[in-house]
Amino acid sequence: MDLYYKSTRNSDLRVTASKAILTGLSPDGGLFVPESVPALGVSLSGLKGMSYQETAYTVMKQFLTDFTEEELKECIAKAYDEKFDTESIAPLAKVDNTYYLELFHGATIAFKDMALSILPHLLTVSAKKNEVKNDIVILTATSGDTGKAAMAGFADVAGTRIIVFYPKDGVSKVQELQMTTQKGGNVDVVAIRGNFDNAQSGVKAMFEDKELAEELAGKGYQFSSANSINIGRLVPQVAYYVYAYGMLMENGEIEEGEKVNVVVPTGNFGNILAAFYAKEMGIPIGRLVCASNENKVLFDFFKTGVYDKNREFVLTSSPSMDILISSNLERLIYVIAGEDSDRTAGLMDALKQCGKYEISDDMHRKLKNITGGYATENQTAEEIKRVYEKTGYVIDTHTAVASYVCRQTCGNEEKCIIASTASPYKFVKSVMTAIDGSYADKDEFALLETLRDVSKTEMPQAIKDILEAEVIHRTECGAEEMKETVKNILGI
Ligand SMILES: *Cc1c(COP(=O)(O)O)cnc(C)c1O
Repeated sequence: MDLYYKSTRNSDLRVTASKAILTGLSPDGGLFVPESVPALGVSLSGLKGMSYQETAYTVMKQFLTDFTEEELKECIAKAYDEKFDTESIAPLAKVDNTYYLELFHGATIAFKDMALSILPHLLTVSAKKNEVKNDIVILTATSGDTGKAAMAGFADVAGTRIIVFYPKDGVSKVQELQMTTQKGGNVDVVAIRGNFDNAQSGVKAMFEDKELAEELAGKGYQFSSANSINIGRLVPQVAYYVYAYGMLMENGEIEEGEKVNVVVPTGNFGNILAAFYAKEMGIPIGRLVCASNENKVLFDFFKTGVYDKNREFVLTSSPSMDILISSNLERLIYVIAGEDSDRTAGLMDALKQCGKYEISDDMHRKLKNITGGYATENQTAEEIKRVYEKTGYVIDTHTAVASYVCRQTCGNEEKCIIASTASPYKFVKSVMTAIDGSYADKDEFALLETLRDVSKTEMPQAIKDILEAEVIHRTECGAEEMKETVKNILGI
């Protein structure tokens, strides 16, 4: 049976999976959601011993029904290969009776790789299916992590180009080097003289520029986006929760059917939404715990039913979670609104107009299995130190937020999976300083070696690469010159 996608702001819209991937955002501004979340299609015991690739296929074929078996398997094979530094792709580390699901073994050592390594392939297959002849040009504005993961994913994928814009003085040294050393004939990165908002606005303006779209079409190009609201990013993320459950059974940690909680360090609400879908598919997940840093808009929402982004924005040591508008939450709102798209659109409009909305008691009750928690900066640092001193295992700042929240909200008897979203090497300064305050004034690059010695782990290839690789990209432009720069790059 074919599964179609509808918009959270228009339940009457009906598109295929490939069309939803190609379009990204629905024309009414809503997000695409499956008409119903499909069942897993195999018994729980059938998950035991499956490889990551097999699990990904089992999950994704239920969601992407207009892809053939061959197409889907090829996408999976191209995505989850030697780019990952472990055959397991997403290993589960048992530490202190908690399971850390390590999602950072890909090219850029953060969990964005789990989806961005497959999205380019899903996108090119989708283009073919919908008879799009143009090359797809991905435009992305980044505050650091997404840009590199997207570049790594799209590098040398036939039929695509990718252009990333980042604020010249707004990313860390490691992040900048990761981007400016990226190889690939179809990859460009541009530093703009401005901040992230300028970059984001510039990209948005280009997406909305009809004249530019025509010029592009004349040259055989069309724009698309690798944004985290694309279902081509969401669906692949469901796979690792299913995989984790299979591994727990395989390793004898749980009985078949036994419930486990899942705790997710959350920003844009994509990762935790994937866990929600895994649960809807039939994975016995007990509670879903949404962990926030000091930007705890989601914690307050789950507690009170009021979403209010009118508050101070805090820069924290877990920057990928410094978000006040969690775009993917709209998909959950739609579910608890009884799939009423008018009601969802009304709430989202209130968010746009006033920065705030309140759900009904009835909707709030439906959230009973999802709870929120948060960690302050001190609690996050203390958690890194605590876990290290007790077990020798070193976690990054984002993972530490979830780890702290897990201890606060889950009982001792409950089994919990913590989504571990970044390698500690990526946030080495904060991590090492948490372990020992005297590292605070040490050089970031020197600390990489200290971390290696302290954690007794191998230095990831992604880190070795930036220490050795040559800077390839040096393009820079003013915030108002982005369009000209894109035209130059594409030769139009
Ligand atoms: C993006 C990111 C998150 C937040 O994930 P969402 O899907 O946006 O909630 C958490 N940790 C790291 C390291 C990330 O890069």
